[in-house]
Amino acid sequence: MEEHVKQEQVFDLTGGLLCLDFANTLDDRTETHPQELLMSFEDLVSWSQQAQVVTGQEAQQLLEKAAQYPAKATRVLKLAVEVREAIFRIFKAVAEDESPEEGDLVTLSAMVAEAQKHAQLVPGADGFRWEWACKPEDLDCMLWPVVRSATDFLTSDDLDTVRVCASDSCNWLFIDTSKNHSRRWCNMKSCGNREKARRFYTRKKSSAGVS
Ligand SMILES: [Zn+2]
Repeated sequence: MEEHVKQEQVFDLTGGLLCLDFANTLDDRTETHPQELLMSFEDLVSWSQQAQVVTGQEAQQLLEKAAQYPAKATRVLKLAVEVREAIFRIFKAVAEDESPEEGDLVTLSAMVAEAQKHAQLVPGADGFRWEWACKPEDLDCMLWPVVRSATDFLTSDDLDTVRVCASDSCNWLFIDTSKNHSRRWCNMKSCGNREKARRFYTRKKSSAGVS
């Protein structure tokens, strides 16, 4: 039997915080042509499932509802990107010891207020946790825990551990949990090695008298 299944993209979830992994769904941010990883509502659902924000069953239900209401799914995707960019700008500002734009804080506050309408506090294995009452018609339900993770972290004592990747073209965000707070790259495999290769090449060029 021939397979016609679209290859699902695998998202990098190494930011250390749900909202930062969400912010990192735009590649090559500083380049002329950044690479959008959330091209469709399906991509958004796929990210949500990989980030364990929704279960496989919920993902399936979301896709079925989106097929029924494509205009609504398109609106949710647009909203998701707007919220993502607000989260990105807020955390980048924090990482660089700058004040976030008031408008972005207003956007995030409004979104978390909406999210809380669907939140139920429940006992967990270790204390309590928020449970999100996600009905299939709530196509934006994956955004609720994302915005909540952003505001929880912004109001926590760990805020000084937010970093922007040191690679010029990347700008991905992550939490630096290394012992001596020295992590510089979102991902050593991609950005760390690419940057090392670039420096090596620049050194070689300058030592050969070419600039
Ligand atoms: Zn990076």
